[in-house]
Amino acid sequence: MARNELIEKTLADAMEYARTFLHTGKVATYIPELAKGDPDRLGACIITTDGEVYHAGDWRQEFTIQSISKTITLIMALQTVGYEKVFSKVGVEPTGDAFNSLVRLETKNTHPLNPMINAGAIATADCCMDSKDPYGGFLALTRKLCRRDTIQLDGAVFESEKKAGMRNRSMAYLMRGDNILEHDAEEVVDLYFWMCSLSVNAEDLANYALVLSNNGVDPRSGVKLVEDWIVRIVKTLMVTCGLYDASGEFAMKIGIPAKSGVGGGIMGTVERKMGLAVFNPALDPKGNSVGAYRVLEYLSHYLGLHYFSGSGCAV
Ligand code: GLN
Repeated sequence: MARNELIEKTLADAMEYARTFLHTGKVATYIPELAKGDPDRLGACIITTDGEVYHAGDWRQEFTIQSISKTITLIMALQTVGYEKVFSKVGVEPTGDAFNSLVRLETKNTHPLNPMINAGAIATADCCMDSKDPYGGFLALTRKLCRRDTIQLDGAVFESEKKAGMRNRSMAYLMRGDNILEHDAEEVVDLYFWMCSLSVNAEDLANYALVLSNNGVDPRSGVKLVEDWIVRIVKTLMVTCGLYDASGEFAMKIGIPAKSGVGGGIMGTVERKMGLAVFNPALDPKGNSVGAYRVLEYLSHYLGLHYFSGSGCAV
């Protein structure tokens, strides 16, 4: 597939469509540093399996990866301690609750329901603490998956979240009390905050999404970066839990395995076809990016990207 005019044109139209919704969203303020985000910024990147790259808008703009890191934390946890141990601590069922909810840790069972919500990612971060270099290992893995060696921490966001992250700390202490966490609660949440605070752009996340779409192999280098069984788990959880308590609606309307973050990113992966990432810091009440959601909605509709697209994929 050479450079595809349909993708180029549809992406440009999707940006225009999405812009008309941006005023309905608000930037996250519960992490004070995120409140500095500009709700009018909108950027996107699509990378196809044949290596063509399509950019739009503010795709160079960096933002913190936030909850999209939960997918990488899960990969690292599975690589570090294995399937049995990870899923003895965290489940695989959607919650229907907000991403930062504590309620199920008491009422359902003491284990977090899945690794894509905060409590679950704190539990998988705890598993990563068993690695010999949790911070260095996570950074190296993120850089490799995103294909950029210069990815760094956004120190200001990290400090800001460390100060403001009382709910996350509460979850960690609850789970430590129930022996789900095996390491010091403060150390685990610090790692979790740090993982959320890496600074990426839309192209970085599209590169990562492309690797997931291609069964863990970077199609350009042919190098296998993630094991098949892990890719399958991560993509399945992106389908069922990737957009918090909007995951069902997103699956039905858009049908792309995806993961969102409160920094404004959503990355999505279209099986054997492409990786996509969109960035816009204006969030809806559930914490998903308004602009990113709308760009993906448009692309899915006009390029036939829904995994159950009746008419098949148009590209
Ligand atoms: N770091 C954020 C938090 O823990 C991540 C949440 C998100 O992106 N939904 O609250």
